[in-house]
Amino acid sequence: MTSYNTKSLFGSAEGTEDLSGGHIVRIAFDTGADTEFDYIVPDRLWPVQAGQRLEVPFGRSNKLTTGFCVAVIDDPLEEQKSRRFKLKVVKKVIDNEPLVDCQLMDLARWISTYYVCPLGQVLAAVVPAAVKKGAGVRKQSYVYLSRPGDDNADLLTSRKQKAIVDILHRAGAVDGDSGVAKAELLESAQCTAAPLKQLLRKEIVRIEQKEILRALPAVPAGRSLKQAAIELNSDQRKALAHIADQLASNRFGVTLLHGVTDSGKTEIYIRAIARTVERGRTAIVLLPEIALTAQTVQRFKSRFGRLAVLHSQLTGPQRNAQWQQIKAQKADVVIGARSAVFAPVSNLGLIVVDEEHEPGYKQDTTPRYHGRDVAIKRAQIAAAHCLLGSATPALETLHNCATKEHYTRVRLPRRVMDLPMPEMKLVDMSLAFAGTGEKGVHLLSPMLKKHLTEVLERKEQAILLLNRRGYSNFVFCPSCRHTLHCRNCDVTLTFHRKSGVRKKETILGPHMTSGFAICHYCLSKTLVPQKCALCGKPMTMIGVGSQRLTEELAAEFPAARVRRVDSDSMEGTDPQRYYRVLTDFAEGRIDILAGTQMLAKGLHFPNVTLVGVISADTSLSLPDFRANERTFQLISQVAGRAGRSEKRGTVIVQTLLPNQPAIRFALEHDFEKFLRSELPHREKCNLPPYWRMAIIRMRDLKFDRLTAACQAMRQRIDDIVGREGFEITVRGPMPATISRIHSFHRMQIIIQAPSVGLMSRFFACLRACAPIRPAVHVACDIDPINLL
Ligand code: ADP
Ligand code: ZN
Repeated sequence: MTSYNTKSLFGSAEGTEDLSGGHIVRIAFDTGADTEFDYIVPDRLWPVQAGQRLEVPFGRSNKLTTGFCVAVIDDPLEEQKSRRFKLKVVKKVIDNEPLVDCQLMDLARWISTYYVCPLGQVLAAVVPAAVKKGAGVRKQSYVYLSRPGDDNADLLTSRKQKAIVDILHRAGAVDGDSGVAKAELLESAQCTAAPLKQLLRKEIVRIEQKEILRALPAVPAGRSLKQAAIELNSDQRKALAHIADQLASNRFGVTLLHGVTDSGKTEIYIRAIARTVERGRTAIVLLPEIALTAQTVQRFKSRFGRLAVLHSQLTGPQRNAQWQQIKAQKADVVIGARSAVFAPVSNLGLIVVDEEHEPGYKQDTTPRYHGRDVAIKRAQIAAAHCLLGSATPALETLHNCATKEHYTRVRLPRRVMDLPMPEMKLVDMSLAFAGTGEKGVHLLSPMLKKHLTEVLERKEQAILLLNRRGYSNFVFCPSCRHTLHCRNCDVTLTFHRKSGVRKKETILGPHMTSGFAICHYCLSKTLVPQKCALCGKPMTMIGVGSQRLTEELAAEFPAARVRRVDSDSMEGTDPQRYYRVLTDFAEGRIDILAGTQMLAKGLHFPNVTLVGVISADTSLSLPDFRANERTFQLISQVAGRAGRSEKRGTVIVQTLLPNQPAIRFALEHDFEKFLRSELPHREKCNLPPYWRMAIIRMRDLKFDRLTAACQAMRQRIDDIVGREGFEITVRGPMPATISRIHSFHRMQIIIQAPSVGLMSRFFACLRACAPIRPAVHVACDIDPINLL
């Protein structure tokens, strides 16, 4: 959508400037308004290119605002000539070079259309804030010789002046990069600024201000991992041959590398990237945030010298430095998390998306894009290849492989060097304690305890997974059934024990010990009352959390070194903490790592021979049509952590629902059987991957206003569907699963369409309508991952 910014500026200073030769540009702002505006660029600021940021007067108050130039309208029609006198005038061009090149601009437009998000907001996400702010850029003084030819001998009146001039002579400080930084110069000449000032006065030297970007290196120095040359096995060779053909074709294509954990996928990525680089093109590797450990980065760094990284652990200056390095074409390979899909590489040849099924690739704020799908689109725009890797591909990706011509699925069915798959054991928790005389709910079944004991005896390591943070996931009164709810959100609070208060107390005491109840959505904290507010009886807690697991471990295995890893224990100011724990674990300073699903991903620890899933049911019970898929993925993935070496691993899965297909087939390592059980449900209910889904979420502090707006939205949707004859399904408005967060009431309307084309046409029509007033917050989530 484009509207014209036609407020006349006659009478202002700009009104007197001769603009007859000016050019018209279109600008997108990060204001949330789904509109682009036309401005005029005076000749003195020309040329301007799409992708540069411009400063312009905006809105009624003409507040100076920065926006991206998204198009140059070079069409000197008479109509425009008359129009140009009504347009506002660009004040300043901020960037010397476009921050976004044509291909990225095309990608941003696609995202804006597909994900129903204003272009200005997409561009805001494409270029990192650290780059826009110029993080780490400092002005620095550089000293040069004014007359490099002269030796100025008779003018140098002191020893220190002479020392300074000598240093500059030796450095050949004439111009450009040859200058010597002032601080360094004074340091080497061992003098104060006074002699330098005298030299300046005598015009023997001159000083220039330069902008320097200072940042600590973001990539650990390339410690070459001594590794015997790996010979690919026959499956790997076949996979690589296919990808090499694709790369040689210089055409867009997608390969799904479907290989169990440890089947050598990463090795294939590395070789495919090497081919890409040999062909003079660049590669981007996307990894789930959590997999971006020093371990992984090292593995790539040891193979590729010109490597840049982009992930959330970087400081602003580091991120800016990495980005500038990529932009200056000094990196062949970029490795990073979701947003690295926007890395400003040129001549892109390959994008790798590892663990492509990971929900973390979907951004949950605007623009709500899916990193994998954007990667595929970017590859298409660049005529590059996209390589998706997973042990448990998303059903959407498998469906694409089955139905789309440019998709190929390549399988790596075996672990490298014929490592055996880990032995999988199921524990039915409803039977586990029969006859043991143990009472109450325990997190560790006798079978798991037995294996843990053996692992500790053999000096091996274990990972235990529990998908809940905190100590319990309910705080409630057993006599009147009152539960502690969040004041702001429609969820129960989770009990977190105060750190340090522990030991001695019962593992699952009937009474609360001191601690806080925390809302995992708005993070509000309440001190837990000892007694129920309604009936005065003592409160208790139900459910299990990772905090309680570590306590039970401490009681059972007092000598074991146990560490908890979840977003609570890892919160705090030091972003390196998580990575340090992993290093401690890798180097054998921890015996048992216990935590949430953060642990399930992409880590490689050869000494881990036992993995325990404390409750496989947690993810099954989510009100989400992907609950089965997630559970299958989780168990398979966590199983991949066990026995990554000659030692055979064991995986113990505890569940109350042993007959659930997702759990059963994950235990049998049988993905195909799981698909056969899952896909028919999806097809019958018109769910992805067969149909497309979108959610229109609306929220407001006032419930009445929200329901009125939701009704208006539904009416509008029905009008469009009636008018255009769209064959789509519309459900709602209905309260969201969590019907209140942060005091905002939440409602949603679910749209299901049989094809992506139809979904896009529907949203194009909806987008063309005026906003719904009074202002209720509306967000469209296309291909939603989070249904809560
Ligand atoms: P994945 O990414 O599928 O989990 P990796 O590529 O990380 O698998 O391979 C697992 C381990 O096996 C790595 O240490 C890797 O160096 C090694 N490896 C990969 N391919 C082979 C091979 N053909 N022969 C021997 N070792 C291999
Ligand atoms: Zn809350």
